[in-house]
Amino acid sequence: MTGPGAGDAAPGARRLLLLIGAVGAGKGTQAELLSRELGLPHLASGNLFRQAMRDGTPLGEEARAYMERGDLVPDGVTIAMLTEELAKPDASRGAILDGFPRTAGQAEALDAVLAGQGERIGAAIYIDVPTDELVERVSGRWVCPECGTPYHRRSDPPAETGICDKDGTPLTQRGDDRPDVVRARLDKQVPPMLEVVEHYRRAGVLERIDGDRSIDEVGEAILELLRR
Ligand code: AMP
Repeated sequence: MTGPGAGDAAPGARRLLLLIGAVGAGKGTQAELLSRELGLPHLASGNLFRQAMRDGTPLGEEARAYMERGDLVPDGVTIAMLTEELAKPDASRGAILDGFPRTAGQAEALDAVLAGQGERIGAAIYIDVPTDELVERVSGRWVCPECGTPYHRRSDPPAETGICDKDGTPLTQRGDDRPDVVRARLDKQVPPMLEVVEHYRRAGVLERIDGDRSIDEVGEAILELLRR
Protein backbone atom coordinates (compact mmCIF):
# COMPACT_ATOMS: atom_id res chain seq x y z
CA MET A 1 0.00 0.00 0.00
CA THR A 2 1.36 3.43 -0.84
CA GLY A 3 0.41 6.45 1.24
CA PRO A 4 -1.38 9.50 -0.14
CA GLY A 5 0.46 11.32 -2.94
CA ALA A 6 0.48 14.88 -4.26
CA GLY A 7 -2.88 15.67 -5.83
CA ASP A 8 -4.65 12.84 -4.01
CA ALA A 9 -8.28 13.59 -3.26
CA ALA A 10 -9.73 13.21 0.23
CA PRO A 11 -11.85 10.04 0.59
CA GLY A 12 -15.07 10.47 -1.38
CA ALA A 13 -13.82 13.60 -3.14
CA ARG A 14 -12.92 13.87 -6.80
CA ARG A 15 -9.34 13.90 -7.99
CA LEU A 16 -8.83 16.97 -10.16
CA LEU A 17 -5.43 17.38 -11.82
CA LEU A 18 -4.27 20.13 -14.18
CA LEU A 19 -1.57 19.92 -16.81
CA ILE A 20 -0.04 23.25 -17.78
CA GLY A 21 2.43 23.77 -20.63
CA ALA A 22 3.02 25.70 -23.85
CA VAL A 23 2.45 24.30 -27.35
CA GLY A 24 5.01 21.52 -27.87
CA ALA A 25 5.57 20.90 -24.15
CA GLY A 26 3.88 17.50 -24.47
CA LYS A 27 1.01 18.10 -22.11
CA GLY A 28 -1.57 16.42 -24.38
CA THR A 29 0.61 13.31 -24.60
CA GLN A 30 1.15 13.23 -20.84
CA ALA A 31 -2.55 13.86 -20.16
CA GLU A 32 -3.42 10.81 -22.29
CA LEU A 33 -0.90 8.64 -20.41
CA LEU A 34 -2.13 9.86 -17.04
CA SER A 35 -5.74 9.39 -18.05
CA ARG A 36 -5.06 5.72 -18.82
CA GLU A 37 -2.91 5.21 -15.74
CA LEU A 38 -5.39 6.78 -13.30
CA GLY A 39 -8.63 5.85 -15.09
CA LEU A 40 -9.80 9.48 -15.19
CA PRO A 41 -11.19 11.31 -18.25
CA HIS A 42 -8.89 13.61 -20.19
CA LEU A 43 -10.67 16.94 -20.73
CA ALA A 44 -8.77 19.00 -23.31
CA SER A 45 -10.40 22.37 -23.94
CA GLY A 46 -8.95 22.61 -27.48
CA ASN A 47 -10.44 19.20 -28.36
CA LEU A 48 -13.81 20.18 -26.86
CA PHE A 49 -13.85 23.35 -28.99
CA ARG A 50 -12.88 21.44 -32.15
CA GLN A 51 -15.62 18.87 -31.46
CA ALA A 52 -18.19 21.67 -30.96
CA MET A 53 -17.09 23.17 -34.29
CA ARG A 54 -17.48 19.81 -36.08
CA ASP A 55 -20.92 19.37 -34.48
CA GLY A 56 -21.89 22.90 -35.60
CA THR A 57 -23.16 23.88 -32.12
CA PRO A 58 -23.60 27.59 -31.20
CA LEU A 59 -20.57 27.24 -28.92
CA GLY A 60 -18.51 25.86 -31.80
CA GLU A 61 -19.58 28.70 -34.07
CA GLU A 62 -18.69 31.25 -31.42
CA ALA A 63 -15.25 29.71 -30.86
CA ARG A 64 -14.40 29.32 -34.55
CA ALA A 65 -13.30 32.89 -35.36
CA TYR A 66 -11.05 33.11 -32.31
CA MET A 67 -9.46 29.72 -32.95
CA GLU A 68 -8.80 30.46 -36.60
CA ARG A 69 -6.87 33.60 -35.61
CA GLY A 70 -4.97 31.69 -32.91
CA ASP A 71 -6.58 33.89 -30.23
CA LEU A 72 -8.00 32.63 -26.98
CA VAL A 73 -11.76 32.07 -26.87
CA PRO A 74 -13.29 34.53 -24.32
CA ASP A 75 -13.29 33.37 -20.70
CA GLY A 76 -17.09 33.36 -20.30
CA VAL A 77 -17.83 30.66 -22.91
CA THR A 78 -14.70 28.69 -22.05
CA ILE A 79 -15.53 28.54 -18.34
CA ALA A 80 -19.15 27.58 -19.06
CA MET A 81 -18.02 24.75 -21.36
CA LEU A 82 -15.57 23.26 -18.84
CA THR A 83 -17.98 23.63 -15.92
CA GLU A 84 -20.53 21.67 -17.92
CA GLU A 85 -17.98 18.92 -18.69
CA LEU A 86 -17.01 18.65 -15.03
CA ALA A 87 -20.67 18.17 -14.07
CA LYS A 88 -21.04 15.10 -16.33
CA PRO A 89 -21.13 11.59 -14.81
CA ASP A 90 -17.87 10.71 -16.64
CA ALA A 91 -16.05 13.11 -14.34
CA SER A 92 -17.65 11.81 -11.14
CA ARG A 93 -14.31 10.39 -9.89
CA GLY A 94 -12.25 13.29 -11.17
CA ALA A 95 -10.57 14.48 -14.34
CA ILE A 96 -7.34 15.57 -15.94
CA LEU A 97 -7.71 19.06 -17.36
CA ASP A 98 -5.47 19.92 -20.32
CA GLY A 99 -5.41 23.44 -21.80
CA PHE A 100 -7.74 24.88 -19.16
CA PRO A 101 -7.33 27.16 -17.23
CA ARG A 102 -5.32 29.20 -19.73
CA THR A 103 -5.76 32.63 -18.06
CA ALA A 104 -5.73 33.85 -14.46
CA GLY A 105 -9.43 34.75 -14.88
CA GLN A 106 -10.26 31.15 -15.86
CA ALA A 107 -8.26 29.84 -12.88
CA GLU A 108 -10.14 32.12 -10.48
CA ALA A 109 -13.50 31.14 -11.98
CA LEU A 110 -12.64 27.44 -11.74
CA ASP A 111 -11.59 27.85 -8.09
CA ALA A 112 -14.90 29.58 -7.35
CA VAL A 113 -16.98 26.84 -9.03
CA LEU A 114 -15.06 24.12 -7.19
CA ALA A 115 -15.16 25.94 -3.84
CA GLY A 116 -18.95 26.19 -4.20
CA GLN A 117 -18.99 22.38 -4.29
CA GLY A 118 -16.47 21.95 -1.48
CA GLU A 119 -13.77 20.93 -3.96
CA ARG A 120 -10.34 22.14 -5.04
CA ILE A 121 -7.58 21.34 -7.52
CA GLY A 122 -5.36 18.51 -6.22
CA ALA A 123 -2.25 19.34 -8.24
CA ALA A 124 -1.33 21.71 -11.07
CA ILE A 125 1.52 20.11 -13.00
CA TYR A 126 3.57 22.58 -15.02
CA ILE A 127 5.63 20.92 -17.77
CA ASP A 128 8.46 23.41 -18.22
CA VAL A 129 10.37 23.37 -21.54
CA PRO A 130 12.80 26.09 -22.77
CA THR A 131 11.41 28.23 -25.61
CA ASP A 132 14.11 27.26 -28.14
CA GLU A 133 13.34 23.59 -27.57
CA LEU A 134 9.58 24.25 -28.04
CA VAL A 135 10.28 25.99 -31.37
CA GLU A 136 12.51 23.10 -32.47
CA ARG A 137 9.86 20.51 -31.53
CA VAL A 138 6.90 22.23 -33.16
CA SER A 139 8.65 23.56 -36.28
CA GLY A 140 10.14 20.10 -36.93
CA ARG A 141 6.69 18.53 -37.44
CA TRP A 142 5.83 17.38 -40.96
CA VAL A 143 2.81 15.43 -42.13
CA CYS A 144 1.80 13.43 -45.20
CA PRO A 145 -1.13 15.31 -46.82
CA GLU A 146 -2.29 12.03 -48.36
CA CYS A 147 -2.34 9.51 -45.48
CA GLY A 148 -1.88 11.80 -42.45
CA THR A 149 1.26 10.05 -41.11
CA PRO A 150 3.13 12.51 -38.85
CA TYR A 151 6.94 12.83 -38.88
CA HIS A 152 9.48 14.88 -37.00
CA ARG A 153 12.68 16.17 -38.58
CA ARG A 154 14.76 15.23 -35.54
CA SER A 155 12.97 12.52 -33.57
CA ASP A 156 11.05 10.62 -36.25
CA PRO A 157 12.36 11.47 -39.75
CA PRO A 158 11.19 9.69 -42.92
CA ALA A 159 13.75 7.45 -44.70
CA GLU A 160 14.03 9.99 -47.54
CA THR A 161 13.95 13.68 -46.52
CA GLY A 162 10.58 15.29 -47.23
CA ILE A 163 8.92 12.11 -48.58
CA CYS A 164 6.28 9.93 -46.89
CA ASP A 165 7.60 6.38 -46.16
CA LYS A 166 4.15 4.89 -46.78
CA ASP A 167 3.06 6.35 -50.10
CA GLY A 168 5.91 8.51 -51.45
CA THR A 169 3.90 11.76 -51.23
CA PRO A 170 5.90 14.99 -50.57
CA LEU A 171 5.40 15.96 -46.90
CA THR A 172 3.90 19.30 -45.91
CA GLN A 173 4.08 21.49 -42.83
CA ARG A 174 1.12 23.17 -41.13
CA GLY A 175 1.25 26.93 -41.76
CA ASP A 176 1.21 27.68 -38.03
CA ASP A 177 4.10 25.27 -37.35
CA ARG A 178 6.65 27.40 -39.24
CA PRO A 179 9.39 28.66 -36.85
CA ASP A 180 8.42 32.36 -37.10
CA VAL A 181 4.73 31.56 -36.52
CA VAL A 182 5.56 29.21 -33.64
CA ARG A 183 7.53 32.01 -31.96
CA ALA A 184 4.58 34.38 -32.45
CA ARG A 185 2.18 31.80 -30.97
CA LEU A 186 4.47 31.35 -27.98
CA ASP A 187 4.81 35.12 -27.47
CA LYS A 188 1.01 35.31 -27.20
CA GLN A 189 0.54 32.17 -25.09
CA VAL A 190 3.36 32.19 -22.60
CA PRO A 191 2.56 35.35 -20.54
CA PRO A 192 -1.01 34.25 -19.62
CA MET A 193 0.25 30.70 -18.99
CA LEU A 194 2.83 32.02 -16.51
CA GLU A 195 0.04 33.88 -14.70
CA VAL A 196 -1.79 30.56 -14.34
CA VAL A 197 1.41 28.95 -13.04
CA GLU A 198 1.77 31.76 -10.51
CA HIS A 199 -1.88 31.41 -9.46
CA TYR A 200 -1.41 27.75 -8.53
CA ARG A 201 2.00 28.39 -6.98
CA ARG A 202 0.34 30.83 -4.59
CA ALA A 203 -2.42 28.28 -3.92
CA GLY A 204 0.30 25.80 -2.89
CA VAL A 205 -0.60 23.10 -5.44
CA LEU A 206 1.97 23.80 -8.18
CA GLU A 207 4.32 20.97 -9.21
CA ARG A 208 7.01 21.92 -11.75
CA ILE A 209 8.32 19.15 -13.97
CA ASP A 210 11.39 19.47 -16.18
CA GLY A 211 9.87 18.77 -19.61
CA ASP A 212 13.15 18.89 -21.54
CA ARG A 213 13.39 15.07 -21.48
CA SER A 214 11.89 12.09 -23.27
CA ILE A 215 8.14 11.38 -23.10
CA ASP A 216 8.80 8.34 -20.90
CA GLU A 217 11.02 10.24 -18.48
CA VAL A 218 8.51 13.08 -18.12
CA GLY A 219 5.67 10.57 -17.63
CA GLU A 220 7.61 8.73 -14.96
CA ALA A 221 8.43 12.01 -13.18
CA ILE A 222 4.74 12.94 -13.09
CA LEU A 223 3.68 9.55 -11.73
CA GLU A 224 6.47 9.76 -9.16
CA LEU A 225 5.25 13.11 -7.84
CA LEU A 226 1.67 11.85 -7.69
CA ARG A 227 2.87 8.87 -5.62
CA ARG A 228 4.91 11.04 -3.29
P1 AMP B 1 -5.20 23.71 -28.23
O1 AMP B 1 -5.67 22.49 -28.93
O2 AMP B 1 -5.09 23.52 -26.73
O3 AMP B 1 -3.94 24.30 -28.82
O4 AMP B 1 -6.35 24.83 -28.42
C1 AMP B 1 -6.72 25.26 -29.69
C2 AMP B 1 -7.42 26.61 -29.60
O5 AMP B 1 -8.62 26.49 -28.81
C3 AMP B 1 -6.63 27.71 -28.91
O6 AMP B 1 -5.72 28.34 -29.79
C4 AMP B 1 -7.74 28.64 -28.45
O7 AMP B 1 -8.25 29.40 -29.54
C5 AMP B 1 -8.82 27.66 -28.04
N1 AMP B 1 -8.70 27.30 -26.60
C6 AMP B 1 -8.38 26.09 -26.08
N2 AMP B 1 -8.39 26.12 -24.73
C7 AMP B 1 -8.71 27.39 -24.39
C8 AMP B 1 -8.87 28.08 -23.15
N3 AMP B 1 -8.70 27.45 -21.96
N4 AMP B 1 -9.20 29.38 -23.18
C9 AMP B 1 -9.40 30.03 -24.34
N5 AMP B 1 -9.25 29.45 -25.55
C10 AMP B 1 -8.91 28.14 -25.58
